[in-house]
Amino acid sequence: MYFVNEIFVSLQGEGYWTGTLMVFLRFAGCNLRCPFCDTAHTSPSTPMTLDELLKAVAEISPLTPFGRNDNVVSTSVISSGVEKSPIRRICLTGGEPGLQVDGALVEALHAAGFTIHIETNGTRPLPPGINWITLSPKSDFVPDASVVLQRADELKLVFTGTNNPDPWLEFPAEHHFLQPCFDAAEGTSNTAGTVAYILSHPSWRLSLQTHRLLGLR
Ligand code: SF4
Repeated sequence: MYFVNEIFVSLQGEGYWTGTLMVFLRFAGCNLRCPFCDTAHTSPSTPMTLDELLKAVAEISPLTPFGRNDNVVSTSVISSGVEKSPIRRICLTGGEPGLQVDGALVEALHAAGFTIHIETNGTRPLPPGINWITLSPKSDFVPDASVVLQRADELKLVFTGTNNPDPWLEFPAEHHFLQPCFDAAEGTSNTAGTVAYILSHPSWRLSLQTHRLLGLR
């Protein structure tokens, strides 16, 4: 049984694949409690079998209107022309998807033709076969968050202005992104501080939460 918070279609907001249309499968639960987390850890989740999960993904993947703010982004504009083109890229996210994603789900999504992305804090081993791993390590911010993954396709580090990013450049990943910390409680982000840091540490690339800027979910 998998515990799911939501399944939706949107544009990837962060990192290398920013702007790319995907299905997002958001698992419930996380083993960490980061101070800036915007996940509602106590919100109810839906228990789903593998078959139920695949059916729900299949139903949404041909595309339905999306976007949380119709005043910012017109759902009719976004959906036009895409309905004939089923989405075959899925992002497994959370919470911490590494607590639940297993080989059976990876195999079934591949069989359905999906390219699989995952966004993980890296504290749990992952099943083989995931096509794109986004590691967002949290050990700079909370205890018991040591990364067990040996590699990632991209590393995306939150920058609060007080943590030291540079040791993470040694982590084996094709891309290293620094992302301003968005404090959900305060509604603030240290974008200027992150830009200033990258100007003097150019091995990093900037990642923004563009879905927030666009009013997407
Ligand atoms: S790892 Fe991610 S989901 Fe988990 S508490 Fe930290 S920010 Fe929230």
